[in-house]
Amino acid sequence: MVELPFNGESMRVYPSKIVCLGRNYAGHAVEMRSEVPESPIIFLKPPSALIGPGEEIVIPEKSREVHHEVELAFLISKKAKNVKVERAMEHVLGYTILLDITARDLQREAKKKGLPWSVAKGFDTFAPIGPRIESPDSIEPDALEIGLKVNGEVRQRGNTRDMIFKIPEIISYISSIMTLEPGDIIATGTPEGVGKIEPGDVVEAWIEGIGTLRERVRKATP
Ligand code: MG
Repeated sequence: MVELPFNGESMRVYPSKIVCLGRNYAGHAVEMRSEVPESPIIFLKPPSALIGPGEEIVIPEKSREVHHEVELAFLISKKAKNVKVERAMEHVLGYTILLDITARDLQREAKKKGLPWSVAKGFDTFAPIGPRIESPDSIEPDALEIGLKVNGEVRQRGNTRDMIFKIPEIISYISSIMTLEPGDIIATGTPEGVGKIEPGDVVEAWIEGIGTLRERVRKATP
């Protein structure tokens, strides 16, 4: 179970679902040799993939190429169904960092065969979150520096202003498909610079105004 600091208290993070945006930064779409999308690309990660700050990302035996993706994430405050863009921000509880850990080799294979991404995105520990939840009153989500280091070396650095679909559009779009429940998590996509992580690595993801999420990487124990 994951608990994160929020407004001076400890909050249990217990979403009914984690909804992730794919290719929401043009730079990342280019590095994936994919087209920049005309409407949001969404997929789900299971809540069982969540881990908290200071935990371990486990490299599964089924993959030879596991990648980091740093993303601005937010939690939903109240039920959202068919929400209009103008009212969307009323549904944001707070902001945090989510690492959309991805088995890139399995994702590539799935794309080639036209299969879902659930395996590539859904392993246990593939959704580290934290280090805290920042209140919407104290953060401007449209202009935050976002980045990630592996073993102290900068791998990703960007700014949330480069997101193709902004948070109000994202909430409106997702809520036109599935009802968002309080505590649900939405991850807004990654800037360019994704790359491989290996056992023994230390991953540090940061977003301006939120903090740094630090996790170790290890291999699965049989
Ligand atoms: Mg992602």
